[in-house]
Amino acid sequence: VKLQSIRIGSIIQELLPMIRGEAMLHDVIVQYEEEESLPPIVVDKEQLKQVFLNLSKNAIEAMGNEGTLTIRERRRADRHGHIAVDIQDTGTGISPDMLERVFDPFFTTKPQGTGLGLSICQRIVHDMGGSIEAESEPSGTTFTVWLPFSHGSG
Ligand code: ADP
Ligand code: MG
Repeated sequence: VKLQSIRIGSIIQELLPMIRGEAMLHDVIVQYEEEESLPPIVVDKEQLKQVFLNLSKNAIEAMGNEGTLTIRERRRADRHGHIAVDIQDTGTGISPDMLERVFDPFFTTKPQGTGLGLSICQRIVHDMGGSIEAESEPSGTTFTVWLPFSHGSG
């Protein structure tokens, strides 16, 4: 692990060309809602990039051939010391019984899937002191990554 203090926005900006490229192949629009006022976080940048890339790939795969992928940075008053990044899609959604299992290793609904993406994402984020939450409706799914910022910085 190689820890550094970095703004979440600069991590997302580095990933956007890759995510937009993948999205374009599926006629998916990418919306990025940056929140400039967020304090920096102390993380392993490369590992965190893997997390957002995996979540974005899943989102695009859930949309098939059109839709909108929204990447949104935010904070919430009742989540002191954390920032959030939403990866939101307008895809197929995940049924409640499946939603309980998506983080399980080897759980996949894709013919060529490994089912490892989300379990790896969750381990990386847990190791950073954060968490991942998933919310889904038939109109789409939102994965939210919560990450702590260093104490006293905001
Ligand atoms: P894989 O992508 O190889 O199937 P993952 O661990 O990344 O493995 O995801 C596990 C399963 O969770 C997927 O097969 C899919 O059923 C479901 N899933 C994950 N992200 C989404 C999403 N954004 N929309 C709908 N289903 C999803
Ligand atoms: Mg995946």
